[in-house]
Amino acid sequence: MTLNNCTIIGITGGIASGKSTLTNMLRKKGYIVIDADSISRDVTKIGKPSYYEIIEHFGYEILLEDKSIDRKLLGKLIFENLQLREELNGIVHSRVFEELQLLINKYCNDNEIIFIDIPLLFETIEVAKSFGLIFDEIWVVYVDNDIQLKRLMSRDDITKEEALLKIKSQMSLDEKAKIANRVLYNNGKLNELENDLEQILSKLR
Ligand code: ADP
Repeated sequence: MTLNNCTIIGITGGIASGKSTLTNMLRKKGYIVIDADSISRDVTKIGKPSYYEIIEHFGYEILLEDKSIDRKLLGKLIFENLQLREELNGIVHSRVFEELQLLINKYCNDNEIIFIDIPLLFETIEVAKSFGLIFDEIWVVYVDNDIQLKRLMSRDDITKEEALLKIKSQMSLDEKAKIANRVLYNNGKLNELENDLEQILSKLR
């Protein structure tokens, strides 16, 4: 039984836990995956509503020479300041959920499954609900802490200290796994993750 016209599955996890890896596998299998991060980049592009709201809030200092938002600087500012982070989330998240709803309406047909890759799903679930977005299932891509650290350092070419700071600034992956409908363990090889995924998908279909 689904609450929507199609089955909506949210995919979340921690930084470098393997969300993109999993959603790439899904895309290759022909599934529709909506990427919430890419929507959040879109809604802050020059001329988009969140662009002006961010300038209003953070001032023109937040712009690069080409007038686009300096995402690196913005990231640094909100990383260091919880209040600013919440203010930016207030600006961007509602726009992201508006766009998400539009895309879901576009793709949603009876009996179809739509996956949404949404890193901050649990952190923003109340905002999602207020936009009428109900997830039929939430999957968490889980990885052990030491493997997460190694993969993050290598993917982003950062030091152990930087990687630890990033991991620690997030809601813990164990907590996320506890409240998920399904947990996909990504400690092993890629083909192990793919096999788990295939098993889960075969039960869904
Ligand atoms: P996320 O999207 O959750 O931030 P990614 O999918 O980018 O995480 O994965 C983080 C890094 O770990 C990437 O460089 C990816 O190629 C690598 N990775 C993911 N899963 C595995 C795996 N099972 N084995 C080896 N490397 C992996």
